[in-house]
Amino acid sequence: MAWRCSGRSNNDLIRNMRRQGIITSDRVADAMAKVDRVNYVQRPGDAYQDSPQSIGHGATISAPHMHAHALENLLPYIRPGATVLDVGSGSGYLAAVLHHLVSPAPSPDNPNPPQGKVIGIDHIPELVGWSKHNLEQDGLGAALQDGRIEMIVGDGRQGYIPAGMSSFSASQGKLIPSTAPYDAIHVGAAAPTLPQALIDQLNAPGKMFIPVGIYSQSIWEVEKTAAGHVRKRELMGVMYVPLTDPDRQRNGV
Ligand code: SAH
Repeated sequence: MAWRCSGRSNNDLIRNMRRQGIITSDRVADAMAKVDRVNYVQRPGDAYQDSPQSIGHGATISAPHMHAHALENLLPYIRPGATVLDVGSGSGYLAAVLHHLVSPAPSPDNPNPPQGKVIGIDHIPELVGWSKHNLEQDGLGAALQDGRIEMIVGDGRQGYIPAGMSSFSASQGKLIPSTAPYDAIHVGAAAPTLPQALIDQLNAPGKMFIPVGIYSQSIWEVEKTAAGHVRKRELMGVMYVPLTDPDRQRNGV
């Protein structure tokens, strides 16, 4: 079972998730092995527990098995070169794993792999600052510097249109995306309903993994086909921090 995957080290945790069938691919296992969860928690002694843990400001780092489910689910869309949005990026842990998947390091077999981009967005400025510190501690300072990882303060319910990817619509009187930028979108907080802005910002093809619901929540996968058709499917019951306003989150309402 998912909650039984706790380990004594990062590799132990990953091995246990493989044994339980939560991680099924080498790509996910290898990328998770490159990111030591101890760099993204507040209490190092809990780093390899398969549970969510408080990171302050009414937020938690998600449980390792939920990160693994999300990565396995999005895997076909997080190939080298892909552009990914992580909404509610919190500790920065998932942004780090996504970075290793979309921007792999050169190897003798592949000296020049395509490099992608990961954008993390969170509405709590202190968490965004802390996540950048965590990523630096984890050896990802260069990726932050050169823009392969970008951590942004903002309302993730609106998604995020990277510079140069929007144009002014006279009829709507506002900036609208000129392209749908994201091959994959991960949402780490539960939306009351599916945010249309995020569906609009999915590439065709593209896929989103998102918890939805208020009292009773479940994960939905939203897949946009190459032809632009949107298919939605409910996957499993979960319990996430809400996708909300900063004041509501800080006050726990
Ligand atoms: N996935 C992250 C954090 C999960 S907790 C991790 O594992 O570390 C959910 C996160 O969503 C919190 O950091 C919270 O601040 C953020 N959040 C909630 N509502 C938000 C909103 N409207 N816009 C952006 N971030 C939001």
